[in-house]
Amino acid sequence: MNSNEWFFHSECTEVHVASAGHAIQNCQGSTSAKRRNFHSWVRGSINDVLIPIESYHLFDPFGHRIKHRTRSDYERIPAIVELCIQAGVDLPGYPSRRRTNPIRMLGKKIIDRGGFLEEPKSSHPRDSSVLLDYDTHDALLRFPPPEPSALHRVAQETMDAYETVSTGVKKLMDKYSVKACGYCPEVHVGPWGHDAKLCGEFKHQWRDGKHGWQDAIVDEVFPPNYVWHVRDPRGPPLRSALRRFYGKAPAVVEVCMQAGAQVPEKYKPMMRLDIVLPDSEEAHLVA
Ligand SMILES: [Zn+2]
Ligand SMILES: [Zn+2]
Repeated sequence: MNSNEWFFHSECTEVHVASAGHAIQNCQGSTSAKRRNFHSWVRGSINDVLIPIESYHLFDPFGHRIKHRTRSDYERIPAIVELCIQAGVDLPGYPSRRRTNPIRMLGKKIIDRGGFLEEPKSSHPRDSSVLLDYDTHDALLRFPPPEPSALHRVAQETMDAYETVSTGVKKLMDKYSVKACGYCPEVHVGPWGHDAKLCGEFKHQWRDGKHGWQDAIVDEVFPPNYVWHVRDPRGPPLRSALRRFYGKAPAVVEVCMQAGAQVPEKYKPMMRLDIVLPDSEEAHLVA
């Protein structure tokens, strides 16, 4: 998307899609008081637009629970890829136990999982290049930026793909269990969490570093990462005084719209496309 730029602020989670950062004073970063809550912008990367969420790949999500000491036996892959594997996608080198008999459960207790099966050892080392196609950060380096003439088409294809993925993840999560830590961004695809003691968030000492697992919501697995909607990416920066007139959109939707894609109806109300912005003469009156 060479006609767009995105910016993020390393001290907080704010991301902005425009030719310059915005001037809304809502920074909560640790040194924000010094800047009167203005953000201090640097150039962002694809990871600020599509936040990478990874989880452990499991041969059998109903098998042995991952322990802290066994965690390095498991590879971290994008959580959505893991969800698709468990739902039936065969990815070379990432085998998944396919059951012919259903697991029998009584409440939360497993009565019959069909025994424990060891993961088949492949004769050659796992080829992680099969995951390259799903690595958004490296994809940006592998593919040249689109020609200006192709920009609209790429933007629309990206917007459509985003809708396909977000509705697909929602459907899969209705059927396959995904857990998320209530304290940090860790996600686990499977019927229960894992025991790797890597949680560094709020009061983790009390939990011995264990994550606090609960059922995940779609936004934790595929974060929308809301940003301000910018009507004129080359215009004056958004300002605090007009904040209540601005809308928001998922970062990908905002990037694609600025590059010429049609926005699905469902995002239009939150983007506040119909709200009339006061011009600069009137702006001080509403402040
Ligand atoms: Zn900030
Ligand atoms: Zn955690």
